[in-house]
Formats: sequence, structure tokens, C-alpha cells
Amino acid sequence: MWNISFAYPTLLILVLFMVFYMSLPRLPIRRNRVFVNLVLIEVLCIATDIVSSWVDNHDPATHVFLLHIVNGVYFITFFLRSFSIYSFTESVLMVNLRDNKLLFALTKLPLVLGTICVFINPITGWIFYIDETGYRTGTHYGIVYIIAFFYSFISFSTFAVFRKRLTRRRYRYCLWLCNMLILTGLIFRIAFPTYLLMHTFCLGAIFSLSVAFEDPETHLELHGTMFNGRALRDYVEEKGSRMEHMCLGVTVFKYYDMRDVYGTTQMDTCLNLVGKYMAQTFNKCLGFYYRKGRFILLGPLDMDVEAAVKELERRFKSSWKTENADIYLNVGFVTAKLDHYKNSADTVLSTLVRALNEAGEKGESTPIEVSSEEFEKTERETDIKRCLENAIDGDAVEVFLQPIIDSETGRAVGAEVLSRIRDAEGQIIPPGNFISIAEKSGRINELGEQILEKTCKFIRDWEPEKAGIKWINVNLSPVQLMRLDLADRFEDLINKYEIDPDLIHLEITEETIIEAEFMSKQTDALCDKGFKLVLDDYGTGYSNLARIKSFPFINIKLDKSLVWDYVENPGFIIPNMINSFKNMGFSITAEGIEDENMADKMREAGCDFLQGFLYSRPISVDEFIEKYS
Ligand code: C2E
Ligand code: CA
Ligand code: CA
Repeated sequence: MWNISFAYPTLLILVLFMVFYMSLPRLPIRRNRVFVNLVLIEVLCIATDIVSSWVDNHDPATHVFLLHIVNGVYFITFFLRSFSIYSFTESVLMVNLRDNKLLFALTKLPLVLGTICVFINPITGWIFYIDETGYRTGTHYGIVYIIAFFYSFISFSTFAVFRKRLTRRRYRYCLWLCNMLILTGLIFRIAFPTYLLMHTFCLGAIFSLSVAFEDPETHLELHGTMFNGRALRDYVEEKGSRMEHMCLGVTVFKYYDMRDVYGTTQMDTCLNLVGKYMAQTFNKCLGFYYRKGRFILLGPLDMDVEAAVKELERRFKSSWKTENADIYLNVGFVTAKLDHYKNSADTVLSTLVRALNEAGEKGESTPIEVSSEEFEKTERETDIKRCLENAIDGDAVEVFLQPIIDSETGRAVGAEVLSRIRDAEGQIIPPGNFISIAEKSGRINELGEQILEKTCKFIRDWEPEKAGIKWINVNLSPVQLMRLDLADRFEDLINKYEIDPDLIHLEITEETIIEAEFMSKQTDALCDKGFKLVLDDYGTGYSNLARIKSFPFINIKLDKSLVWDYVENPGFIIPNMINSFKNMGFSITAEGIEDENMADKMREAGCDFLQGFLYSRPISVDEFIEKYS
């Protein structure tokens, strides 16, 4: 006699759980699909087990055919369940055996063989047979356990090898618990074959997976109408190069200002309405809400983006009615074809987000189109960022020096420090490619201090004065100047190497002094410590003479574009300007001197110092010492 009493409540709980789970939207990724399959398979497995046991208990002789069918289905779902648990383990650990055809086939083989055994079972009777007393285990019933233990084994092994990929302890614990419950269930099944107990263990296993990985809320946003940023990341990460979508980004124009105007609560209500509208209108697309008023729709490759933009524009012309107000929002658009790209999920997302932010600033109806070059560019930036971080962390930012020449004597009297980092192959990455990244990622301060420290060390060890080099110019980023303790920190470095701060000339650009009052405090502090200030890149931005005059610069560097322009079309403006600067007490340096003609012209125009490839390209410290000793 079979004891069915555990199976009924298990089935009931599982069905209730299934209904709840199915009622919420799910992201179409592998682990969610596997999980749905697992739940359905388990429901079928319990149901067939109950039916066959019940018939066997009551009236087996008249239902031989039915017993064959129901038991057959039961055993197939039994194998499928073992396979699904393994599949789920594989998918959350991001193991993909598809690329390894042999292993992929091997993991499927037991399932296929088991199913074949079930199909030929009415003839062979290997797994079970039915006689006049009812169900009897067959001669090769062991097959069933071999298959189940096989999947349990490879599931545990995969877990053991790749568990580190699960970032949270809760994930690891729940996945382990799930596999452990299945194994225990199997052992119970062997020990107490007439109790249908294993299903209860499976229910436990399904619950432990659902707690850690399958709570649909972790992927939802805006009352469940849209997926969230995390879902987008998971989706893009899993699809990888197999992604085939047209992407339409929609972003609220001036989101923060709108939020200030309408207030947080109303804005949230409004965004919920927008989410609901988008989910309904573009129900063929996957809709994501990426915080801060940014929506991303992923549709099929042949999606009519133009029509979608028109429809969105039409809708956004009218208001969104919240309880208290009619809210009008303007939006900007971004389009991108996500088709066989080779980039990482990080790259794809940051490129899209950057474009979305840009669109949010513009708020124009013409979408910003993100090209594949754009993704490549982000990827390169990511590479450079990595090199930059390695260089900063490993104290490997290099100091290069370019001499500054006295225009009268033609001798090197100063030098500018220009930083360099290297890529994985040891090739130099120029600062034009990494300074702005360092500024954005907040590491420019460390970089700047490393450069200054290396410059100090160079000055202490070599004593440039002896070679006639009277000062060394160091570039200062506007971001560095935002730091209130900048002067103190620089002073500490100077003191550490016991050098005269007079030797260091700090180059800052005019764009730095937009916030004049604050900057004047900062530059005064630096001057108080003894540093000298130089105005860099004069002639690239808009200039304000009165402001320049109010800062304690000792030298003005004319940018190479201005110099080249003057050499091409000489006139009286530049010489006059140089003259007035000199009357104000500034000395003048011309950058970008590439040939004798340029040098002559700039000397005649009144420049005191010349810098450029004519004299030397920026060279390493060792080369510099060798050349100028
Ligand atoms: P910059 O301060 O204007 O530096 C001069 C740039 O012009 C250097 O480029 C130099 O190699 C280049 N140059 C010099 N002479 C000639 C010439 O005759 N012809 C041409 N075509 N170019 C010439 P580099 O080294 O690539 O640096 C680019 C920029 O990166 C610098 O422009 C500076 O703004 C920034 N930078 C470099 N090092 C640092 C640093 O340590 N900190 C900060 N904040 N910025 C740095
Ligand atoms: Ca400079
Ligand atoms: Ca410059």
C-alpha cells in the first residue's frame, strides 16, 4: 500500500505557489525559464505519482493500461526534475556548456537514455511492470537512481567549482541547500519507498531557490510594470553576443528640475503612469526603467522605431493626471541596434546611459543614435581606465619631460612634466586619452600627487639648477583645484623631499577659474606656500583679461593652435597682445614650436620662451638627464 498523505498538501502548496509566481512578469532569461519548467515538471510529477499510487491502492487489475501511462509520465518527469535542478544550478553559476559540445551532450545523455528506457518499458519491464496485483518494480530499477544520483553529483560538482561566482552568501547557501534537499529526498525514497516523501523535499528545494534567485520583485520597478536596472544588466549579461534587439531609450527632459517642480511623490506617481502606458503600448517590447526618468525598450530588430518615437511624442504632448495635478513632461530619445555586439554588459549599459543622459539634457525629438563605434569607444575607455587604475595603484605613472627654451639664448631653462601610462603591451597611452577619465573617475588627485612626488624626487636627485634648468612646470587639473587641502598636501610633498617650492611652476588653464572667488582663494594658498602659477593653453577658450590680471600668474603659455595660426597668418594682433601681457608683468611662452620658422616668428613677436618638437619631444626622465646633464 502507498502512503499518499504527504503528497496532497505538497501538491496544493506547490500549485498555489505556481499561480502566484506565474501572475508576475518574469524576465526572459535562462534561469527563469528553467525555474518555470522545474515547477511545472514537479507539479506533473506529484500529480502522476498520486494518480498511479491511488489506482494501485484501489483497483489495479482493471486499469493496467492507465497504470502504464501514468507511471511512464511519472518516471520521465522524475528524470526531468533531476536534470532541471542541475540546469538551474548551471544557469545561476553562469556556466554555459553549449560551447563544449561533448560535455553538453554528456550531460543530456542520461536524460535521453532514461526516457528511452521508459518508452520501451512496456516491452522490457526494466523499470516496472504491472501484474494482477498491480505495480511491481522491474529488473533494472536501479537505472532510475543512477540517473538521479548522476545529476545530483554533477550539480554539486558544478557548484563546488564555480560557487565563487555567486556574490552573496545567501545565494551560495540557498543553492547548496536546494541540492542537499534533493539528495536527502533521494535517500529517503530509497529508505521508505512506499511513502511519497521525496516531493516534500523537492518543494523545499524549490522554495530555497525561489528565496534566493526567483523573487520576481528583485527585477521589477514602477509597481511591476517595468523591469529594473538590475534586470537589464542580467538580461544583457546573459544574452551577450546573441543579443538581437532594437533599443529605444526614452528619458525625461531635465529630470531633476522636473522633480523639483512637481515634488517627489507626484513625480513618482507620474512615472508609474508612464511605465504603465509604455508597458501597454509597447507590449511586444521588454520595458526597463533605469532610474532617474530613464526608460529603455528592447524590441525586435525590425521594430519601427520612428513610429514608436512618434507615438511617444504624441502621448507626451498631453498631460499625466496624478491625484493633484496635470503633469507635463518632455522627453528625449536614444536609439541603438544591439546586434551581435562583442562588448561587455558594462560597456553596453554605460554607453546607453551616457546617451540617455545626453538626450535628457537636450530633450529633442530627433533621437540620438548610438553607433557601434560608440560602443567600441566606451570599450576602449574601459581598457584605458583599467590601465590607469593599475598605473595609479602600482605607482607606475611615468614622468616625461619636455624642455622649455629661452628664446634669446636657445638654451633649455625649464621643463614641463607630462604624464604617461602604458597599456598591457607596454605601449604608451597619451594623457589626452586618460586625464579626462581620471578626472571623471575621481582619481586625478592621486595621479596628480604621484606626478608631483616623482617630480620632487627627480629635482632632489638630479638638481636641475646645476644644468641651468631653473624651474619645472607641473600641470594641475581643475578637479585638483577643487580640493580644499591641496596647498597643504603639496607643501607636505615639497617638505618631504626638501626642495624649494620656487622650482615648481603649476600650470592651470583658464577654464579652471570660472568660479573666480573660490579659485582665487585656492591659488593664493598655493602662492603662500611658495609655488608659482602659470596660465596654460591661452587662446583655446574665451579669455577675460581682467580676470587673468587678478590672478598671481608669472607666465602665460600661448596654445599651439594660436601659435600655428599666427605663423600662418601673421598680423599685429598677437605681437600687440604679447606686448600688453609683458607690460602687465607676465612672461610669455609659445607652445607647439615645430620648426625654425615658427621659432623665429614667435621670438620676433616677443615670446620669452619656446617649447615644441623642434627642441625635443617629451622624453623620459632618464633620457632628459642624459641629454641635459
Ligand atoms: P599641455 O599641457 O598643453 O601639454 C602640451 C602638449 O603638447 C603635450 O601633449 C606635448 O607633447 C604637446 N606638444 C609639445 N610640443 C609640441 C609640438 O611641437 N607639436 C605638437 N603637435 N604637440 C606638441 P601631451 O603630453 O600629449 O599632453 C596632453 C595634455 O594632457 C597636456 O596638454 C595637459 O593638458 C595634459 N596633461 C599631461 N600631463 C598631465 C598631468 O600630469 N596632469 C594633468 N592634470 N594634465 C596633464
Ligand atoms: Ca601644460
Ligand atoms: Ca598647453
